[in-house]
Amino acid sequence: MPDYRYQCLDCGTTYIGPQLDGGMTCGCVPAKSIRGTFYGVGVTHVKPLSDELLESLSVSEAGKVRSALCLEWGIPNKSHAFHGSNFSSNQTLVNLINNIVEPVRGGLLITVRQKVRQKYGYDIETQMMA
Ligand SMILES: [Zn+2]
Repeated sequence: MPDYRYQCLDCGTTYIGPQLDGGMTCGCVPAKSIRGTFYGVGVTHVKPLSDELLESLSVSEAGKVRSALCLEWGIPNKSHAFHGSNFSSNQTLVNLINNIVEPVRGGLLITVRQKVRQKYGYDIETQMMA
């Protein structure tokens, strides 16, 4: 039976298994309905995201972490556009990481993917623990 993967990066609620009618309801307040993505067949070993990745960052903390990670990973920091971003409230570290690496393409993406794996044990491509 094919598996579907449902994950809310804001609260970390994760479900992998048979497709859910109407999606998964996550742990956010208010709860969101998460649409699943086809994940694979017979995948059984999936590590949950680490506590570190699910740590909640305030807007100012997130700004600082973003600057530091952009510097470390060689990604142009778009923090000048920060106030126009979608994030006006707390977000998780994993959410921030996904946001930082989202525009990264090509050779840099390969490098960054490796660096994120080393630092956090997280794979930005599958959005799961490596
Ligand atoms: Zn959620």
